[in-house]
Amino acid sequence: MASFAVRIVNYMIRTPLAVTAAILAALSPTKKPASHPAPKASEPPAEVPARASAPVAPVAAKPEPVKEEAPAAEPQHAPVVKAPLPTTAAAPSQITYSQCHVDGPYVAMTFDDGPHGSQTPRLLKMLQQRNIKATFFVVGKCVAQYPELAKQIVAEGHEIANHSWDHPLLSKMAEGSVREQLQKTHDVIKQTTGVTPTLMRPPYGGFTVNQRSWANGTWGYKCILWDVDSLDWQHKTPAKTESIILSNTKAGSIVLVHDIHKTSIDAMEATLDGLAKKGFKFVTVSELIAMNKPGTPAKTKPAKTLAPSAGAAAATSIDELARPAAASIR
Ligand SMILES: [Zn+2]
Repeated sequence: MASFAVRIVNYMIRTPLAVTAAILAALSPTKKPASHPAPKASEPPAEVPARASAPVAPVAAKPEPVKEEAPAAEPQHAPVVKAPLPTTAAAPSQITYSQCHVDGPYVAMTFDDGPHGSQTPRLLKMLQQRNIKATFFVVGKCVAQYPELAKQIVAEGHEIANHSWDHPLLSKMAEGSVREQLQKTHDVIKQTTGVTPTLMRPPYGGFTVNQRSWANGTWGYKCILWDVDSLDWQHKTPAKTESIILSNTKAGSIVLVHDIHKTSIDAMEATLDGLAKKGFKFVTVSELIAMNKPGTPAKTKPAKTLAPSAGAAAATSIDELARPAAASIR
């Protein structure tokens, strides 16, 4: 019995939410399935309940974004961090966005963790040559280090936004420290570029619901996540960055890349050209949000442009990493 439970659990861990839910539903009338593993199947199940109840679980409940080290975006166990987000849920006063629902083929390219002394200038040149506007989620201490690049980002028409002072996992920090991380960065962006940022992106996507609402009240920040994670920081393979982005981006997508890795920027010419060839138009995140049509179900979007022709593997990992939130509200 215990082993049956463990198998279910193991299966669930690797099975997309919807399927898992269906299986649970099918099982539940008869046998009490492992959704709340009997006391016996003690250890592995820990994961399960969180997963199964992902739609509701509060951020803080899941301790885990842990494995991140340096730059990075998403812990492998990303569902953890994101599960709770009301992606595109609340219509009127939406604070968090992972993607938008738009009428045209608009997408937002976002670049995190810079400015970087050599990679950001390369990227800026590529963007300028294509007249593409992007959004830069900058780290405050890098702005302090490369003020000229921050100014150039703004001067060339891109959006600049807050990505903390030195990239800690904010969801595990006390309010005073979080305030300091965001305020210092807010200030250095403002002082350096003259622009008051209106968006923030938490490192690793780790920001509790309460923190989001507090940051929104304090600085007016919208919390910007993403629906397309290039995982560039992890595989560092330009061709992979390109293919993940090309096969998963759809109208309204917010695409995550890091402009601190040479391999990421190496991928950008082909990626940007590939997206343009598919008919996508590039806007900043704020512009994308301005076009957002709240209440439109996420499902309606993909039809618009393209269906991911992607390798199933890539599509799946993207889904798992970047979309649990979206999935949870469907
Ligand atoms: Zn980051």
